[in-house]
Amino acid sequence: MKNFDVIVIGAGPGGYVCAIRAAQLGLQTACIDAWLAPNGKPALGGTCLNVGCIPSKALLDSSHHVHDLAHGLAAHGITVGSVEVDIAKMMARKDKVVQNLTRGVAGLLRKNKVATFAGHGVLQAAAGGDGHTVEVRAHDGTSERLQARHVVVATGSVPVAIPVAPVDGDRIVDNAGALSFSAVPARLGVIGAGVIGLELGSVWRRLGSEVVILEAMPELLPPVDRQIAREAGKSFEKQGLEIRLGAKVTGTEVNANCVEVRFEDASGSHVVEVDRLVVAVGRRANTEGLAPENAGVALDDRGRVIVDDHCRTNVPGIWAIGDVVRGPMLAHKASEEGVAVAELIAGQAAHIDHALVPWVIYTHPEIAWVGQTEHALRETGREFRVGTFPFMASGRAQGAGDTEGMVKILADAASDEILGVHIYGAHASELVAEAVTAMAFRASAEDLARIVHAHPTLAEALHEAALAVDGRAIHF
Ligand code: FAD
Ligand code: NAD
Repeated sequence: MKNFDVIVIGAGPGGYVCAIRAAQLGLQTACIDAWLAPNGKPALGGTCLNVGCIPSKALLDSSHHVHDLAHGLAAHGITVGSVEVDIAKMMARKDKVVQNLTRGVAGLLRKNKVATFAGHGVLQAAAGGDGHTVEVRAHDGTSERLQARHVVVATGSVPVAIPVAPVDGDRIVDNAGALSFSAVPARLGVIGAGVIGLELGSVWRRLGSEVVILEAMPELLPPVDRQIAREAGKSFEKQGLEIRLGAKVTGTEVNANCVEVRFEDASGSHVVEVDRLVVAVGRRANTEGLAPENAGVALDDRGRVIVDDHCRTNVPGIWAIGDVVRGPMLAHKASEEGVAVAELIAGQAAHIDHALVPWVIYTHPEIAWVGQTEHALRETGREFRVGTFPFMASGRAQGAGDTEGMVKILADAASDEILGVHIYGAHASELVAEAVTAMAFRASAEDLARIVHAHPTLAEALHEAALAVDGRAIHF
């Protein structure tokens, strides 16, 4: 039996960051991870690095270049010949980015003297004393036992499966499959117009697929500010993404050359034929093989490990972070919980402000936000003021030829404290950081309005939206 201070189960952005922080704090740390790359070798970094954030953004960037070359440069007076896409090369580049980063995580764990174990971590029944035991079941069938006073469960999430469209890894795929097509499908179907559906739908649309997205809900992107979701919906349509709202998929049939997808909506029953179908209807907490019941760790009715505000489970010394617990399934949320838990274990004070976790949807334009939406504020009855500024009025956006979208700031009517910031536009993913910083310091719209912003920048749109809260935007 090997002894540690902390055992982290899972090396996604929650687990590996937690392990590094614990090691930095002088704790003897082990990290167990079960992920195997397509070459059969262990790969750290979890969903995010292997089949999530990183490969999807690599393909979004590659496909954006294709789109720009074909459609965006003529307005700048630049003419290019026909644009050829080498999918194999694009995929190889994406795979290389993933490999560099997963190896980078292995290097970081080594540098911080975290002991890594490849295999499944299985919680064991309490054997008395104040320690916990975890069995590592290695991929070659061997096993060993580790013991520690603290165990952090960071086992992430897996795609939700639906019986009407069983994933076969060929014609019907999940996110991993949709990141690895060997050719551009002429017709691509997607079930679910959520974050994955829109991001991966955009990738393949830009590369030439006809894309139809079937969404069960009557509205697009319910968590997004309504005004922005409406604008984004129109823009997706212009980009050629056909989004069918209120569509209930009733069945699929895989034929030799295509998939027939049957669905019903308000106008009746329909069938669409597609070459490939992506199922992107959400993700669920992953505790498969972990055996939480052995240690008495409680799960909620959605299979998530139940934790308090400090990520403590019901069992003293067992913690859980990231996608396997409540809250948004986002890499940066997982990582911040990992840091906080390591610091709490080391006896420090730690705090995670879940209300200030930013969201980004990497379509073009990007959609990013932090804090409350206008509709959520209306429901609470809180009085607020709104300031908006369109990128059309930004000199930098005009210069770049990327003028779609706006910044919208919501501030308390009495105190002027910023309650929410919603950005729809190019580079919104970068711009939202200023909003998060301002809100973390509980800035008022007036505070933001009085900060000097460089000119010409897209960030000036945040400045102007803050001025607009008080009805005094200069350029609109
Ligand atoms: P994971 O990253 O899922 O890692 C869990 C790890 O634990 C895995 O390696 C798994 O193999 C391992 N594991 C599970 N059980 C065991 C066990 N019993 N023993 C040992 N190991 C185990 N989020 C963003 O913030 N930004 C994005 O742009 C973004 N894009 C995404 C795009 C896609 C296509 C997808 C699918 C997700 C995306 N996400 C994004 C979400 C993000 O990937 C997750 O929120 C994040 O990976 C969660 O981190 P985690 O550490 O909790 O879990
Ligand atoms: P999602 O929850 O974002 O969207 C799923 C969509 O599928 C919803 O709109 C839902 O109404 C719809 N849906 C559910 N069942 C359906 C059905 N039977 N038929 C048709 N539509 C159906 O989930 P996702 O897109 O699978 O992504 C999972 C999670 O991964 C996200 O919620 C997010 O936490 C994370 N993620 C984040 C990013 C990012 O941060 N940029 C990118 C990708 C994924």
